[in-house]
Amino acid sequence: MAKQLYLIKEGEISLKGLNRGFFEKRLKNNVKDKLRPYHSTTQRQKGRLFLFVDEDCPAERIERALSTTFGIAGYAKALMCQKDTDVIRAKTEELLSGLDGSSLKTFKIAVRREDKSFPVHSYDMACLLAQTVNKVFPHLSVDLRNPDLTVHLEIRNQAFLYTSDSPGPRGLPAGTAGRGLLLLSGGIDSPVAAYTMAKRGVKLDCLYFHAYPYTSDEALEKVKKLASLIAPYLNGTRLFVIPYTDAQLNIRDKSRADATTLMFRAAMMKTAGRIVAMEGMQCIVTGEALSQVASQTLPAMAFTDSMSDYLVLRPLCGSDKEEIIALAKKIGTYETSILPYEDCCVIFSPKHPLTNPDRQEMIELYESLGMDEFIEKALLETRIYTFNGNGEEGETFSLKDKIEGDIIEQN
Ligand code: ATP
Ligand code: MG
Repeated sequence: MAKQLYLIKEGEISLKGLNRGFFEKRLKNNVKDKLRPYHSTTQRQKGRLFLFVDEDCPAERIERALSTTFGIAGYAKALMCQKDTDVIRAKTEELLSGLDGSSLKTFKIAVRREDKSFPVHSYDMACLLAQTVNKVFPHLSVDLRNPDLTVHLEIRNQAFLYTSDSPGPRGLPAGTAGRGLLLLSGGIDSPVAAYTMAKRGVKLDCLYFHAYPYTSDEALEKVKKLASLIAPYLNGTRLFVIPYTDAQLNIRDKSRADATTLMFRAAMMKTAGRIVAMEGMQCIVTGEALSQVASQTLPAMAFTDSMSDYLVLRPLCGSDKEEIIALAKKIGTYETSILPYEDCCVIFSPKHPLTNPDRQEMIELYESLGMDEFIEKALLETRIYTFNGNGEEGETFSLKDKIEGDIIEQN
């Protein structure tokens, strides 16, 4: 079957030294995973990944995959041909014949001659291709600074031609930095926190604390929708939904009123830590931003931090709400995040929460609540929803079944 060809520009990966192969391999696998069931192959060449995909795979599908895969600085649909000037000129004509030139006024040729043994130098090659452009579009003139059309030629093991290239999301491929657990609420911040850490290569699963009936089924649906929206950037994800009503009621009944949010957050850290340990992950990620609410002051975060046995990453800590909203809009989660269903934190939050808690006092209060038994019980009732790298929902199972399955597998 004929193949569609895409040229992928690597971003930060190209700065890597000896471990570059590790990053490139992960990038390649992440792209191929997203394109399944369509078959694709790749070829790696200095700073580039060439992707060949079955002809029947829709272009939008490929472009959606490439525009959401971290590690990609840019990509373009390309044509490949022999390194022969006549063949290259003929291919350029073919490339241009697929374009509507009526709205174009200016053009430029960009030649990259990676194969230095190719006998025609870059400037001469650019002049030759300029003639070809003018043969197809006689009305175009050259503008090297701000052209409407750029024809790119790269001479490598073969010649590669492309016109417009689209920006990729940059960053590093999901999975190259290890694995983590995102605390995903229905708000604006946590999906953006997921995007931000995934961009640095962390492979993320999500955990949502669900306090039914205080939080509705619609609130859960909203969180599932958010998980599906961020799943492409995460190269697929699992959403752990833990029933937390009894745990929260226990906090409400036994804690000082002004410390209930802090106790809830401490319990969240402990619970997340249990899943992190079970799954062999390395960190917890939250959408907290310094001083956004009472539980996100420095003393409050220092306390919740001290309740976690794992590294807690708060990538939005230094971000302004407007900056977070702009990013949420860019990644397409904002409209879902602002749907009105209440989060459980909001429902159980005290009127006058502590902003400057005494850490030792809080630790003692937490220890008096007897949370462990509630956490263990809730873990047994946790459900796991799965989403692939295209955001499609897959199978659902219980954490209990998964643990039992893992044990059978190990034996
Ligand atoms: P967001 O907009 O992401 O909900 P927020 O501004 O509402 O954040 P908080 O409700 O204080 O802030 O929560 C801070 C962070 O704690 C969230 O970004 C998220 O990481 C985590 N979190 C809060 N509630 C939940 C929940 N019910 N389940 C999972 N994580 C939660
Ligand atoms: Mg929230």
